[in-house]
Amino acid sequence: MSDLYERLGVSRDASTEEIRRAYKDAARTHHPDRGGDTETFKKIQEAHEILSDDDRRKMYDMTGSTSNDQSGQATTAGGFPFSFMGGMGPFGMPGVAFDMGDIFGNIFGGGGGPKKAQRRGGRGPAKHHDIGLKLSDFYKGAEIKLKFNQARKCLDCKGTGAESTEPCGQCGGQGMKIQMRQIGPGMIAQTRAPCDACEGEGKRTMRVCRGCHGKKFNEREKALEIRITPGMKEGEKLTFAGECSDTLEYDEPGDVVLTLRRADEENPFVWKDADLYISKTVSYAESVLGFTVTLDGHPNGQAPRFVWNGGPLIHGAVLEMKGGGMPKVGGGYGNCFIQIQISPPPTKPWTPEEAARLQSVLGGTAANFEKVPTLDLAFADSQMSSLLF
Ligand SMILES: [Zn+2]
Ligand SMILES: [Zn+2]
Repeated sequence: MSDLYERLGVSRDASTEEIRRAYKDAARTHHPDRGGDTETFKKIQEAHEILSDDDRRKMYDMTGSTSNDQSGQATTAGGFPFSFMGGMGPFGMPGVAFDMGDIFGNIFGGGGGPKKAQRRGGRGPAKHHDIGLKLSDFYKGAEIKLKFNQARKCLDCKGTGAESTEPCGQCGGQGMKIQMRQIGPGMIAQTRAPCDACEGEGKRTMRVCRGCHGKKFNEREKALEIRITPGMKEGEKLTFAGECSDTLEYDEPGDVVLTLRRADEENPFVWKDADLYISKTVSYAESVLGFTVTLDGHPNGQAPRFVWNGGPLIHGAVLEMKGGGMPKVGGGYGNCFIQIQISPPPTKPWTPEEAARLQSVLGGTAANFEKVPTLDLAFADSQMSSLLF
C-alpha cells in the first residue's frame, strides 16, 4: 500500500482523470464514516494529493519522494525536467523541437521508486517511447538531444541514504518481527512480519547521508543524442542501454528504447517503403493541355515541380517522378507517384465555334447545336448538372 499508484489502484501512466475517479471510488469505500480504516483513508488522500499535482507527481515518479519540498533537485528551472535541444545535425540541419509532454515522466516511471518497493534485483525493465519526427527529418537526417534528469544511486552511501546506521532496536537487527497474537480462547498464533520500524532493513539511520540528504539518489542532467540518418524507417527502434533512472527495485537501470514515429499529419505525402505518394488535382484544360504541379511539403524542402506535357490524361492516372521518393539505406532514392484528379469539366455545351475548333483537333462529328430545340437544350443542361453535383 505504500506505492501511491497502488493505493489508488491505478497504473503509473494513469491520466489525471483516471486518478481523480479512482480517488473518488477509493475514498467512498474507505471513508471512516462508512466504517473504513482511518489510516487507509489518510493514505488514499495523501496519494491523491500528490498524484493530482503535476509537479509533485513528477517528483514522486523520479525520486519516490512524497515530500512537498519543491526546492529539491527533482525539478529544474520552471519545474520542467525535460527539454529537447535542437542541435545541428550531421547534415547541417537543425534538430527538431517537438512536444515533450508525451515523454515526460515515463522514461523515469518508477525512478527512485516507492520506499517499500519490492526488491526484484537484476536489470530493470526497458522503457519504451515514441519520438515524433517530420518526414523531412527522415529524408535529411536530424540530430536531437533529449535532455532529462536521470536519477543515480548516491555514491557516498551506495543508495542507502545513511552515512551511518545502527541495528534496529525494535527487531534486534533482524528486519523481521515475531509477534504472538491470541486468535481465540487458548489459541496463540505466531506471526513473522517485516519490522515496521526499520521497514525490514534491520538497521536504522543514525546520520543521514550528506551526499544525497537521505534521498538515496542524486539526479544529474543527462542528454541522449538521437541521430536520425537518411534511410531510417518509421518504426525503427533506438536503444540506449541503462539510461533509465536507478531504482530501489532493481540492481541495474533498464534501457531507454525510442521508436521513430512520423508525426506530421499535415504533410500530404504518403510514405511506403522508399516511395512517396501524393494526389494532385488539375483542371480539365490542364489534363488536356499539360501542366506543372508544385509538390509542396516534399521532404527535400524545395517544393519540387513536376511538369507534364505528355498529352491528355484520364482521371486517376498515376505519374511517376523518378528519384522523387525517400532516401534508401544503400544510397539512391525511391520514386514519387502522383495521382492525378481532374476537376469537373465545363458544364456548358460548346458553342458551334468551339465545337468546330475541337473537332478540328479531335476529329469526330460535332452536334448541330443550331438545330437543337431550346427545350431539349435546357433538359440536357439540367441532366448534366445533376450528374456532376
Ligand atoms: Zn527493525
Ligand atoms: Zn547518499
